[in-house]
Amino acid sequence: MTFRALRVDKTDQGHQARFVDLDDADLMAGDVTVRVTHSTVNYKDGLVMAGRPGIVQRFPMIAGVDFSGIVETSSDPRFHPGDEVLVNGFGLSQTHYGGYAGRARVPGDWLIKLPQGLTRAEAMAIGTAGYTAALCVLAINEQGARPGNGPALVTGAAGGVGSVAIALLAAAGWRVVASTGRQEEAEYLRGLGAAEIVDRAELSAPGRPLAKERWAAAVDSVGSHTLANVLAALMRGGVAAACGLAQGMDLPATVAPFILRGVRLIGVDSVLCPMDRRLAAWGLLARDLDRRKLAEMTVTLPFDRVMEAGADILSGKVRGRIVVEIS
Ligand code: NDP
Repeated sequence: MTFRALRVDKTDQGHQARFVDLDDADLMAGDVTVRVTHSTVNYKDGLVMAGRPGIVQRFPMIAGVDFSGIVETSSDPRFHPGDEVLVNGFGLSQTHYGGYAGRARVPGDWLIKLPQGLTRAEAMAIGTAGYTAALCVLAINEQGARPGNGPALVTGAAGGVGSVAIALLAAAGWRVVASTGRQEEAEYLRGLGAAEIVDRAELSAPGRPLAKERWAAAVDSVGSHTLANVLAALMRGGVAAACGLAQGMDLPATVAPFILRGVRLIGVDSVLCPMDRRLAAWGLLARDLDRRKLAEMTVTLPFDRVMEAGADILSGKVRGRIVVEIS
């Protein structure tokens, strides 16, 4: 059976992504073969499709860091034909063929049965970005930060991680402050649950080691000077969960907020996150993420527009989340 896939090849001109027709014999080894119905476009997918080096570790590679679909065959006793499943991270699109293909074969250990109450399309509307936002919110909770302590800041607010983080924090009772470079999205961000909007320019330039205490918690997908300023303005004992590098990978901060205010910085990695935490994050999303808000932050595109969407996410034009209909 042939299916369409977006394959990345290494050529003399660099890494190039293009559509190809493959069949089951082309798939990599795994216990479970899935008919992929939906995928999504995360920032990392944009980088892979643009041919940026450093992510794909073997060639050729099928792009797409996550997918949802229906099990067709399985030698893993936990999965059966007809089961609805999702997967994100692990080696997808790096060392193992990813979700931009009509079919995928993966180890059963990577798969999650679709959480009750979510459709396959909703699971990819959440996707890696939304699940990472949930990991950040779990981390903040585990550190004991509570809405009564003060507001929660979300940076990169109109992006994928940011949009889902706002909706989850608001659902948990936080007063959410959204930092964005797109003031025209203020109404959208308020609709997701932001109580206050700040201009990201307030945070993105080099700042002082300590600033006025403003936030009890923060979800940061931006890094660089922004994260340094977030730490400098955390309230005593506050918690920041850091997951991204939209501004940069550097962290030009000082130890002052740690040693003078006892703030905590928690790193969040979604890719090799253990299964029990994955299940906790997906459980939180299935239970607490308002489906109306999820629909509001999502656009759906056909598979043949996935590269266009990849270019858009790199240039900061995407608002919220994108679902890609694969088959
Ligand atoms: P998006 O592109 O959807 O969102 C990023 C947002 O960051 C943008 O929408 C924009 O928000 C803001 N931003 C962009 N450029 C800059 C800049 N130069 N300075 C300040 N802010 C900027 O990406 P995602 O939400 O999917 O991912 C966000 C980050 O998180 C990425 O770096 C990604 O690689 C990382 N990530 C990490 C994961 C992990 O496992 N740790 C998993 C998933 C994502 P606005 O327009 O509102 O200002």
